[in-house]
Amino acid sequence: METTLETLADFERCFSSQETCLDYLLEHRWPDGPVCPYCQSHKLWRFGPVLECSGCGRQIRIMAGTLFQDSKLDLRIWFRAVWYLVNNHNGISASELSRELGIRYPTVWSLLHKLRWAMFADLRVPLTGRVEVGEVFLTSPDSLQSGLSSLRSERLAIAVEYDGQSLGRLRMRVIDSAKGYFRRFIEENVELTSTLIIPDRLKDQSLEADYNCLTTSDLAKASSFPPISQISRVETLFKGWLMETFQGAVSEAYLDNYIDEFVFRFDRHYQENRGWVFRQVIDRAIQTPPIRQDRIMRIRSYI
Ligand SMILES: [Zn+2]
Repeated sequence: METTLETLADFERCFSSQETCLDYLLEHRWPDGPVCPYCQSHKLWRFGPVLECSGCGRQIRIMAGTLFQDSKLDLRIWFRAVWYLVNNHNGISASELSRELGIRYPTVWSLLHKLRWAMFADLRVPLTGRVEVGEVFLTSPDSLQSGLSSLRSERLAIAVEYDGQSLGRLRMRVIDSAKGYFRRFIEENVELTSTLIIPDRLKDQSLEADYNCLTTSDLAKASSFPPISQISRVETLFKGWLMETFQGAVSEAYLDNYIDEFVFRFDRHYQENRGWVFRQVIDRAIQTPPIRQDRIMRIRSYI
């Protein structure tokens, strides 16, 4: 059973040193005990951050192959950054976190973007059930006035589970305006058995062949109330989050990374146990291979 992780005091007690953070990494990377990747031996001796195999004599670094692999930062800094990230309701900007941790802004900026990559890990699981889909433009004239001026007009595809009462999981991605990209986004993010709620203008015969599609005007006919678009609800929340947390200062080159953090948070908005969310981010960082500094920018699959 995991130790309770609810308050800052719990956190400081659990992760008081580099050694205790390494213990956590070791336990979560190999829940059944470490295994040598070269000879599959289960007999390994630990020397600080290194394991030595008693079978073949080779050494394995505990952080090797994880997001933390090449970092010069103490693991405690990473863990603390994740703690701040999940305990601030709206997240934290690099400048704020830099002040909290006493670490240079460029280092913290890159650390946060790497963590956003780790958050992407479970966004590959497709949505199911009743899913509303649509697209929005991030820099509309109104958002220009409200401060998102560092972005040129970005087209975002959105898909959100909605059973008519509550919102479920969300998927979002920057897409190209050429025909076909929206469909590809849906194919990759929504299971074929799902029912799509789609705006009339995006109605597409090839989508209708694969999904059970309902247009917004079909819904309006079937109800005495005009349907409320969950896509515009998500759009408002996303723009509000960019403004509140980053004062709109997000570069278009990294927009997909910010989207990944937003989606990760959105999918866990019901979760009150921040310790559980903290563990989820660390576990994903363990499963995420190291990312080179010059590759932090998301390789956009839809452009
Ligand atoms: Zn070995």
